[in-house]
Amino acid sequence: CMTKKPHCSYCREQELLLQPMAKQKNLDWQLAPAPESKDHFKLKEQYELFIGGKWVKPKSGKYFDTINPATEQKLARIAEANAADVDSAVKAARKAFEGPWGKMPASERAKYIFRIARLMQEKARELAVIETMDGGKAIRESRDIDIPLAAAHFFYYAGWADKIPYAFPGKQTSPLGVAGQVIPWNFPLLMASWKLAPALACGNTVVLKPAETTPLTALTLAEIIQEADLPEGVVNIVTGAGATGAAVVNHPDVNKVAFTGSTNVGKLIQRSTAGSGKKLTLELGGKAANIIFADATIDQAVEGIVNGIYFNQGHVCCAGSRLYVEEAVYDEVVRKLKHRMKSLVVGDPLDKNTDIGAINSKEQLGTINKYIKIGQEEGSDMYQPTCDLPGKGFWCRPTLFTNVAQSARISQEEIFGPVLAVQTFRTMDEVLQKANNTPYGLSAGVWTDKGSKIFNMTTKLRAGVIWANTFNKFDPTSPFGGYKESGYGREGGVHGLGTYLNLN
Ligand code: NAD
Repeated sequence: CMTKKPHCSYCREQELLLQPMAKQKNLDWQLAPAPESKDHFKLKEQYELFIGGKWVKPKSGKYFDTINPATEQKLARIAEANAADVDSAVKAARKAFEGPWGKMPASERAKYIFRIARLMQEKARELAVIETMDGGKAIRESRDIDIPLAAAHFFYYAGWADKIPYAFPGKQTSPLGVAGQVIPWNFPLLMASWKLAPALACGNTVVLKPAETTPLTALTLAEIIQEADLPEGVVNIVTGAGATGAAVVNHPDVNKVAFTGSTNVGKLIQRSTAGSGKKLTLELGGKAANIIFADATIDQAVEGIVNGIYFNQGHVCCAGSRLYVEEAVYDEVVRKLKHRMKSLVVGDPLDKNTDIGAINSKEQLGTINKYIKIGQEEGSDMYQPTCDLPGKGFWCRPTLFTNVAQSARISQEEIFGPVLAVQTFRTMDEVLQKANNTPYGLSAGVWTDKGSKIFNMTTKLRAGVIWANTFNKFDPTSPFGGYKESGYGREGGVHGLGTYLNLN
């Protein structure tokens, strides 16, 4: 600090940050460990496929392990579905569509969806701990964001089930049939809920394939679905890796494919479903720009940036991984950002004080480290706080790159980790050009005190979701989806219903 005065706001900031910093720097006093208990539930040693309302052994005869990325310890053995298993699941879904589910009044369907939501709330703690153990995300995130939002999606779409004609006045609505849904590992239960709840509300039946590194909450959801007495075959859950996903997507009796994942796999799916008559929605990668104008409330913006890229280990498709700062406030923003980064707690995801948990897998950690190396080789300046990392597991310190060129790979390509690339701008036109200059168009953020600037920016930024003076906020009532290589179709809100219906 230059002033050395007791009222200096910078010094006060330092003081406020002392407590978590103490933990990181092994000072005399530390935050007491606050681990979430794992004693209130028991994982099975082995999970089978959930087909036709029953747990069935895979015809493939194969299983794979799912591990805890924070400890590298095995959590359970998971069945690996092959094409024959997927065929059984699609047949079960078709039978349920043509049978009880298809014939059921919409108001009855709503009750089942509502019941699932209630059971998810009852088991919220169990679901949160399983999500954290299987995926590596901090318990604070799974407990306060993932699980409540997942239940909220079921509640929201339960409400829509018997009101669908009102959502599309003048149109005849009917369900599509069997939906094949493939989801990624970053929000395992939330992504399952985004997909299942609207599909069921519209009267479809489903075959869902969770990601191979995070199948456990989807399988716990299958137990909830059983407990809710959902007619057999309405929801089928098949586990496995890419080949299982491809079998779901390419099955000839699937009427709708909903995919969330990488742009590369999304393109493959687009090609393989072309001409098949299947309805397709793709929620793909992103490279969101977070834009700070000089008139923004800087402290609030810094907190938003940290939330946007570092929480959830940057494993967020809409993560604010590019930061554009108006030149006048660049020094202040970077100083405050570095300062805040020092206080981020990286470590045991089950500890309630943890901000940044484990990277989801060894492969993903490899990808992130590759990009960190690329950033340094490209000539950008790197900053990482000097926090200790646990010995076992997959970890990455929050990373900041300044002096980044617009053409740099770390500013163009999706990293999907806690890595932020910072650039400056002088005018609105300049930052619009820079922000839109990417193959992606999923999300963006604008930080300013001026409403007119917000409206101006949000109409010109090519991104499906734009937050103003906040970031990464989700709600079941609001649609989510991308432009360009971030995919098409919307999930959430009324828009999310339209993609599961024939509209004539
Ligand atoms: P991924 O594409 O590798 O895998 C996603 C899912 O697809 C997994 O279940 C996987 O097993 C399956 N899969 C892999 N190959 C397949 C194939 N050929 N056919 C069918 N299914 C196949 O993606 P990932 O690494 O698991 O997830 C990270 C990506 O997901 C990032 O790019 C991220 O931006 C994106 N994502 C997007 C959104 C969104 O809403 N737009 C949300 C979350 C994640």
